[in-house]
Amino acid sequence: MQALAERLEETVGGATFEAAIPISFSALKTYAPTPECLTGRTLVSVGRRGKYVLLDFVGPRIVFHLSQGGRVDVESPPRSTRPKFGVVRFLFDGRPSVLVKEYGTERKAGWWVLAAGDEGPLAGLGPEPFSDEFAELILDGADGRRVHTLLRKQSTVAGLGRGYTDDSLHRAGVSPYASLTSLKPSERQALLDAIRAVLTDGLEAERRRTGGLPTKVGDHWVVHNRHGTPCPVCGDGLRRVSYESYEVTYCPACQTGGKVLADRRMSRLVR
Ligand SMILES: [Zn+2]
Repeated sequence: MQALAERLEETVGGATFEAAIPISFSALKTYAPTPECLTGRTLVSVGRRGKYVLLDFVGPRIVFHLSQGGRVDVESPPRSTRPKFGVVRFLFDGRPSVLVKEYGTERKAGWWVLAAGDEGPLAGLGPEPFSDEFAELILDGADGRRVHTLLRKQSTVAGLGRGYTDDSLHRAGVSPYASLTSLKPSERQALLDAIRAVLTDGLEAERRRTGGLPTKVGDHWVVHNRHGTPCPVCGDGLRRVSYESYEVTYCPACQTGGKVLADRRMSRLVR
């Protein structure tokens, strides 16, 4: 989202806002202010908070969240079609239009028009991973939950999610089931460094894109969703723990001292 925000800033930053054309009507999560009240305003910056993209009009803001299947097209010249998977199109005077699309089935992309001072969906977000507040949480925090639970929750740290969490824990050599309080100071520091390094690598990879966010994003995960393939560090097979709607990927040799964590999918086979 950071790299996408940077590209949108380049494309439509400083532009005069013309209109937001809703295509999927349930996607707009706010009633007031209306999108129309932004017409004629200057888009002063495009930013990011957690996984939300922020269009800032000095005071009011548009915020959108792509969820799992959301994508963005930068349309030059601007278009007026109503594509099947469209969510909303933003029009700017003399600039490309920006189309938000949705291919997901489960969790839908959404957008908000927020008055000055209204945090809307941003209110519950935890600190950014590069903030001092987050460093303090990892280095000194007494949270007893599993680190994997802690890190993928947007209320603890904004914008990490499952993919970066799997990869960060693998890079740090920390078990997804470890708690912060069970880690030595050096392990906590390694975890913080790994999280930031993984995010920096991810941002570099994403910055190589141009335009919006394509339908086939591919990915650059090192271990996330790669169970059954060799660990890139030690060559052992990566394992997973499956939950209803996601899975945790890890390397037993690198992260759990060789211990294989119970997986309900496996135990069902065994039974
Ligand atoms: Zn390994």
